Amino acid sequence: MLFANVIVDISHEKLDKTFQYIIPKELENKVMAGCQVDIPFGRGDRQISGYVIEIEDKPCMDVSRLKEIKGLSKKSLMIESQLIALAGFIKERYGSTMNKALKTVIPIKQSIKGKEKKYLKLKVTKEEAQILYENYKKRKNTKGRAELLNELINTESIEYELVIAKLAISDQIIKGLEKQNIIEIDRTAVYRNPVGDYGTEEDRVCLNDEQKRVTEDIIADIDSEKGNTHLIFGVTGSGKTEVYMEIIHHVLSKGKEVIVLIPEISLTYQTIKRFYRRFGDIVSIINSKLSQGEKYDQFERAKNGEVKIMIGPRSALFTPFRNLGLIIIDEEHEGAYKSDMVPKYHARDVAIERARLAKANVILGSATPAVATYYKALKGEYILHKLSKRANNMSLPHVDIVDMREELENGNRDIFSDRLKMMIADRLSKKEQVMLFMNRRGYSSFVSCRKCGETVKCPHCDVSLTLHKKRAGDRLICHYCGYSIEMPKFCPKCESRYIGRFGMGTEQIEEKISQLFPKAKTLRMDMDTTRAKGDYEKILSSFCDGEADILVGTQMIVKGHDFSNVTLVGIIAADLSLFAADYMAGERTFELLTQAAGRAGRGDIAGSVVIQTYNPDAVSIRTAASQNYEEFYQNEIGYRILMSYPPAGGMMAILISDKRKDFADRVADDIAKRIEKTRIEGLVIIGPSKAAIAKINDIYRNMIYLKHEDEDILIKVKNAILKYIDMVQEYKDLSIQFDLNPM
Ligand code: ADP
Ligand code: ZN
Ligand code: ZN
Repeated sequence: MLFANVIVDISHEKLDKTFQYIIPKELENKVMAGCQVDIPFGRGDRQISGYVIEIEDKPCMDVSRLKEIKGLSKKSLMIESQLIALAGFIKERYGSTMNKALKTVIPIKQSIKGKEKKYLKLKVTKEEAQILYENYKKRKNTKGRAELLNELINTESIEYELVIAKLAISDQIIKGLEKQNIIEIDRTAVYRNPVGDYGTEEDRVCLNDEQKRVTEDIIADIDSEKGNTHLIFGVTGSGKTEVYMEIIHHVLSKGKEVIVLIPEISLTYQTIKRFYRRFGDIVSIINSKLSQGEKYDQFERAKNGEVKIMIGPRSALFTPFRNLGLIIIDEEHEGAYKSDMVPKYHARDVAIERARLAKANVILGSATPAVATYYKALKGEYILHKLSKRANNMSLPHVDIVDMREELENGNRDIFSDRLKMMIADRLSKKEQVMLFMNRRGYSSFVSCRKCGETVKCPHCDVSLTLHKKRAGDRLICHYCGYSIEMPKFCPKCESRYIGRFGMGTEQIEEKISQLFPKAKTLRMDMDTTRAKGDYEKILSSFCDGEADILVGTQMIVKGHDFSNVTLVGIIAADLSLFAADYMAGERTFELLTQAAGRAGRGDIAGSVVIQTYNPDAVSIRTAASQNYEEFYQNEIGYRILMSYPPAGGMMAILISDKRKDFADRVADDIAKRIEKTRIEGLVIIGPSKAAIAKINDIYRNMIYLKHEDEDILIKVKNAILKYIDMVQEYKDLSIQFDLNPM
């Protein structure tokens, strides 16, 4: 006998509240997660409808007390059904509870009192504003003001939040302009469209032949309703966004809706504006700055048909469009598309499943596709389209690789090579800007003793503490749990004085720059300088305004920002991400370097890139320098196939964690043995072993890795483990996490 868990009120708070019903024999093959069913409810057995969220083979109470499902609801497939079915897919594939999966998919409804919306308007005439604009544009430090005025001249009103969040203009600037009676803050205006007129034919670019061909091919395939997934592999600036918009236009004309995923960090005002300009009011955005209630409202508007294009990061995927026609995932290689919380789903796979359920299509786009994506495209699972020409005639930057081993031999022990120093000096003298990229925040990575070799570690986590310079004195901080101590003067182990720092981080680069180029103004962008809301935009806008000559930062600075005055990008230690202990290290290195290099010379001046490395021959570094994706891919896929790493085979990481070390060890051993006993052909078990970080916050962490050619086998093993755990009393509260194809 099978049993269905049913919810009758589909809202975020009520998801825990399920009722179990018996599935009658004749419906056993028809009832699935997501189905809407008619059920007798309450004392009087009043007939209502509910959604099946899960099917079980064990009753949760005495069967005699359970009622039977009456039948499947006659209503057509509701959007709720589709989203529940999607949650079922997430639960099954990524291993989480149905409840967690549902909460991922269904937004929180909050009875917020409609947060007051504020709009900015001009208080001077357009002509006056134009004069002010010209003035601001010429002066230093007023570019933000110029941009805001320019927007207001072209538009009636702009939403306050949008200005702060996306136009990167600070509160103070707005208040300043208000005081000067140049602008006013209006609380009554109705927000229509942030960019005024839209859809004028003259604005539209005329697609080049390559773009036209790709557009036509994809549209023809969409119309054939085969539900294919497409990959647009197009170099940066090849005009992918124009192609997306043309296809969106077609999909809309068929009365369907579109979801566009863009990584949060690339979701700039400029990008959003292009979509608004083309499609107007039917465009909406969600981002992580929205409150749960605001997000819910956006989703309601989508459900009501007010919105037809939803743009946003990962979670926009769950927009409850009733008539979804297309999902676009831009920059599909981005790591941010994989959730870092349980369920650890990948937006690409979930998008493809959602499209399947909705009979829609998926388009993936990237200049450096994920190895897994390109693999599937070459195998024919996705349809591959290439855009090889730059639409805007920008030239590729000139890239130099500097071998830091040679620098050492020549007596340069600095973190900057002679070449980079010389080029920075040159750019500073020409008043051009420089970006320095270092994939590690803090001052130096860790502090260790030169006498006994001890590194100073966090007592609660299995990681070295990181040195941070503070006004109140140097401190050692744990990046995992926040534990911090004063920088010790003596080695905690052998008490020698020879304790010092090793490695380097963004803070050290900043300090070094001020020694070498005392007149240069530097800005730093990393997790430490962007803690408060708006910090990130503030740093970017002041750099854009020319308030600093050099921007030092972690990978935050390499994504998607175009600064026309940047003519030099220095990559300080290209190797840093190369030796991470996972199979994706090479891919990440290639991506980071290609993107960092792409920041140079976006304006009319050609750019230069200096890559400093101890491994100039490493393929990912060499191919990133020559911007040769194909060569990188061929090499990388060879390695993955040899080692049966994804995408050549499936991989599953199992994390078992507990406060009690011996318990965590015992469980990991037991589970590994259980898996071994299944004797599944081709299943490779690695471990159990300590996780790369064996302890976080006093919780011990053990890993088991499984590899098998067929992902479905791994999912079956996962289900078997879950069943087993369910049977063992002692494992009742065990913390176990699964990660399919970990990143
Ligand atoms: P991608 O998304 O591939 O990086 P975009 O679509 O952002 O490329 O295009 C890059 C730049 O080239 C944009 O400024 C865009 O307006 C311009 N562009 C794209 N296609 C054309 C075209 N056919 N003619 C003229 N300019 C174009
Ligand atoms: Zn810690
Ligand atoms: Zn020591």
